[in-house]
Amino acid sequence: MLQSPVLPEPPRHGEDGPESCGQCARPDSDFLWTDEHWRLSGADAPSGLPATVLLQPRAHHDLLDLPAELSTRLGPMLQRVERAVLSLGGIGRVHVNRWGDGGAHLHLWLIARPEGLTQLRGFTLPLWMDVLPPLPAGVWAERARRIAAAMAAGGGTAPARRATCGR
Ligand SMILES: [Zn+2]
Repeated sequence: MLQSPVLPEPPRHGEDGPESCGQCARPDSDFLWTDEHWRLSGADAPSGLPATVLLQPRAHHDLLDLPAELSTRLGPMLQRVERAVLSLGGIGRVHVNRWGDGGAHLHLWLIARPEGLTQLRGFTLPLWMDVLPPLPAGVWAERARRIAAAMAAGGGTAPARRATCGR
């Protein structure tokens, strides 16, 4: 049954600014890769998809108030992350998604679809994360390490402590 509208909508995490934002509070060591402007994170547990990473600006912005300088950098950065994910091999496509219902700090999901699994094509791909059996933790950690290394090869820092790359 469709529920009634909730108005006003409940605030998102970090809606009041960086002081209340859990993303802003995370140390760089919590991320797969960072540079001056961006931070790339993974997930705490493996999923059944080849890789899932989240790109976010270092500073507290949503898409609407992302400064022009960062907006200009976003396109090339998305291409760079996609290349890093594709470097794993065996990936048919990397989908870029932006949802913003949970947190006010902009975060873009890059979700990889296994090559050849055409049944998973399109907007239903995220749903398969909870359906497919998760990858072994060791495989998952190795993929995260490789994505971080591919990113770091082009600049920035891969803290290397973090060993997750899914959601
Ligand atoms: Zn924030």
